[in-house]
Amino acid sequence: MPKCVQCGTETGFIGSLTFNKQTGRCGRCESEVKQSLMRFRNAFLNFCSDGMLTEEKWSRLSAGAANDRLNIDEARLFIRADALNLLNRILIFATANGFIRDEEERNFQYIQVKLAIPYIEAQSLLDRLSYLKYITNIRRGRLPTAYPNIRLDTDELCHLEMPATFHKINAKSTSLISGRFVVTDKKLRFLSVTGGTEIGWNSVMRVQVQSGGIYLELSRKTGNGFYSASDPLLLEAVIDTI
Ligand SMILES: [Zn+2]
Repeated sequence: MPKCVQCGTETGFIGSLTFNKQTGRCGRCESEVKQSLMRFRNAFLNFCSDGMLTEEKWSRLSAGAANDRLNIDEARLFIRADALNLLNRILIFATANGFIRDEEERNFQYIQVKLAIPYIEAQSLLDRLSYLKYITNIRRGRLPTAYPNIRLDTDELCHLEMPATFHKINAKSTSLISGRFVVTDKKLRFLSVTGGTEIGWNSVMRVQVQSGGIYLELSRKTGNGFYSASDPLLLEAVIDTI
C-alpha cells in the first residue's frame, strides 16, 4: 500500500482509491493542499490587483504558503497562468502609453524572478518587453541609425526607413499610395513610384499612432493624413523624438 508523502499515513484499500499517484498524497491531504493552493491564488490575485508585486506582498504571500505547509514550487506553478497574465497586463498598459517606465520594468522582472517563470514560457513576453525598452530609449533620445539607398545631403543622418502606404483622401474616394518613409535629422520623406514628398520638420505639427498606422498632421496639405505601416509605434517614436 502506498504511503502519503504529506502525512505519512499508509493508505488502506479504500484510501488507495483516492490516493494521488502523481503527488504521492492521500485523498485527505490532497484536498487540504488544493484548498491551500486556492487560498494562495486568491491572495496573489488580491495583492496584485493593482498590477504590482512588491517585496512586502511577496513576503506575505510566501509566509502564507509556509503557514499552510505549501511547497512553494507547487504554489508558484499553480498560479503560473495568473502570473503570465499579470506580465501581459503590464505590457499592454505600457504599449498603450507608448513607453515602459523603469518602475514597470523592475516590477516585470521581479514577478518573473519571484514566481520562477521559466524563460521558455516568458519568451514572447520578454521579446515584447525588449521592444518596448527599445521604443522607450528612442523617446529618451537614443535614435537608431539607418542606411537608406537614396542620396542624402552630406551631413544628413538617416534614422529610419520603413515601408508605408499613404491613404490619400480625394474628393470622392481614398487612394492608396504605397511607398516608404525615410526619416532623417533634416526632413521626413515619403517616397513612392508616383513621386515623393519632402516634409521639413517645422511642418510636422503632430504624429499619432492609430490602429495599423500613424496619422501625420502637417501645417500643409500635401502629405497630411493617415499612413499604414508595419510598425506604427516605432515610426511614431522616431518621428516624435526628432
Ligand atoms: Zn496524507
